[in-house]
Amino acid sequence: MITLKNYINGALCAPVSGNYLDNYNPAKGEVYARVPDSGAEDVELAWEAARAAFPSWKNTAAEDKFKVLNRIAELIDIHQQKLAEAESLDQGKPVWLAKNEMTRAGQNFRFFATAAMQFGSESHAMEDKAINYTLRQPIGVVGCISPWNLPLYLFTWKIAPALAAGNCVVAKPSEFTPYTAALLAEICIEAGLPKGVLNIVHGLGGSAGQSMVEHKGIKAISFTGGTATGKRIASVAAPMFKKLSLELGGKNPNIIFADADIEKAVKTTVNSSFLNQGEICLCGSRVFIQKEIYETFKEKLLAQVTLLKTGNPSDDTVRVGAIVSKPHFEKVLDYLEIAKSEGAKVLIGGAAAQPEGFENGWFIAPTILEGLPQDCRTNMEEIFGPVITIMPFETEDEVLEFANATEYGLACTLWTSDLNRAHRMAGKIESGIVWINCWLLRDLRTPFGGMKQSGVGREGGWEAMRFFTEPKNVCIAIHS
Ligand code: NDP
Repeated sequence: MITLKNYINGALCAPVSGNYLDNYNPAKGEVYARVPDSGAEDVELAWEAARAAFPSWKNTAAEDKFKVLNRIAELIDIHQQKLAEAESLDQGKPVWLAKNEMTRAGQNFRFFATAAMQFGSESHAMEDKAINYTLRQPIGVVGCISPWNLPLYLFTWKIAPALAAGNCVVAKPSEFTPYTAALLAEICIEAGLPKGVLNIVHGLGGSAGQSMVEHKGIKAISFTGGTATGKRIASVAAPMFKKLSLELGGKNPNIIFADADIEKAVKTTVNSSFLNQGEICLCGSRVFIQKEIYETFKEKLLAQVTLLKTGNPSDDTVRVGAIVSKPHFEKVLDYLEIAKSEGAKVLIGGAAAQPEGFENGWFIAPTILEGLPQDCRTNMEEIFGPVITIMPFETEDEVLEFANATEYGLACTLWTSDLNRAHRMAGKIESGIVWINCWLLRDLRTPFGGMKQSGVGREGGWEAMRFFTEPKNVCIAIHS
C-alpha cells in the first residue's frame, strides 16, 4: 500500500493527526493508497513555512526563479511516464491521455518560468508633469485548490504562475487524485526549490481546503472546482476581502451549422463529448445541430461513438476510462435516470459499463441522448460525465437563445464555414471561451475562465501574473 505524504517546509511529512484517508483506483474499485487527512494544524504549518520563505523568494532574481521553475518542468518531462501511470491509476483516465496532460504540466512550469523573466512594471508619462510606474508586487502566501479531473495539469496551472510572480504557496489537490501532486513534491525537492516556497497539504475539501480559505494569512485563493464549492469559498473569503480566482463548472454548447465541415465537426465532437470520460469542464454536453443536417450528423456521430472502446486505462486503444470515484459514478447514473424520466431517448450507452477484467470498476458507456427539451434539468445542470444531448435547431437566433439559456458561461464551440456568422455568434455568446471550427486548442498566453456561474477572474498568461500580484502605482512629479 502506498502512503502519500504532505510536503511542508521542503520535507515530506505525515499529517499532524496521524490520520489517513483511503485512495481508490477507480478502474478496479480498490484502495491502493493512503492519503493524509490533513486539517487546520497542517495548513498552519504549511502557512508558517511559506511565510518564512517569502522574503527570500520574493527577492530572488527573476533569472534564478526561471532556472528552478524550468528545472521542475524538465523533471516533469523526464518523469512523464511514471507521472502518467500514477495519474491514470488515481483518476481512471487512459495512460495515453494522462501522458498528454503531463506534457502540459511541464509546459505550465516552462511557460511561467519564462513569464517570471518577462513580466514587469508599466509606466505612464503625464506629459512633462510626472511619470507613473506601476509596481507588480507578489501578494505573499497564496492558496491553490484544484479538482480531480485534470489533476496535475490544473494543479501546476495555478502553482507555476503563483511562484513565478514571487509568492509562496500552500496548495491542495483533490483528495480523490492526490498521487501526482505527491510526486510533484519529490520533483520540487530534486529541482532544488527552496524549502517553504511550495507546500502541499492533502486532505478533504471541507477540512484542509476550508482551513486554507479561512486562514487570514493566506491572502489569495486560486480555485478550480464546482460552482457550489466556489460559492462556499466566496462567502467565507468575502469578509476578509481575500483575492479570489474561481474557475467553476460549465454546461457548454457545441453548435453545428449546416454549412460546417461535417466530417471535422463529427470527429471533434466525439472528443469534445467523451475525452477524459466527459470529465473536462470544457466538454460540450449540449450539442445543437441545424435541422437540415441533423439526421446525417447523428448517423455519423453514432457510427464513430460505437467504435469507442471503454475499459483498461493501460490499453492504448481504449478511449474511455473509469469515472473518478464511486460517488461521482453514482451521480452520473442518477442523471441518466433523470434524463430518462424527462423523456430522453437513449441512442447509445445510457448505463454503466463492465469491461472484462474491470467488473468492479466505475465505468459508464459513452451516452448520446435525444428528444429532450433544451431547458430540462439534463440540459441545464452539469453532469460531468460521458453524456451528451443532441438537439435540432433552425435559426441562428434560436440557437443563440438556447446556447445562452444556462446559468453557466464557460466555453462554446461553433462549427460553420460562414465567417460573418462565426464573428456574429462569437460576439453574442455568453462564455469566456469561444472555439470556432476547433475545440480545446489552447495558447497559454490567452485568458482562460468563465462568466456567469462559471467563475470569476481569468487564468493564463499575464492574467494569471496579474492575479498573483498587487499593482502599486508610484507617481513622480517632474518639476521645472
Ligand atoms: P469540487 O468543487 O468538489 O472540489 C474542487 C477542490 O476544492 C477539491 O480540491 C476539493 O477537495 C476542494 N474543496 C471542496 N470543498 C471545499 C471547501 N469548502 N473549501 C475549500 N476547498 C474545498 O470540484 P470537483 O473536484 O468535483 O471538480 C469537478 C468540478 O470542477 C466540475 O464542476 C468542473 O466543471 C469544475 N472544473 C472547472 C474548470 C474550469 O477551469 N472552469 C476546470 C476543471 C474542472 P476534495 O476533493 O478533497 O473534496
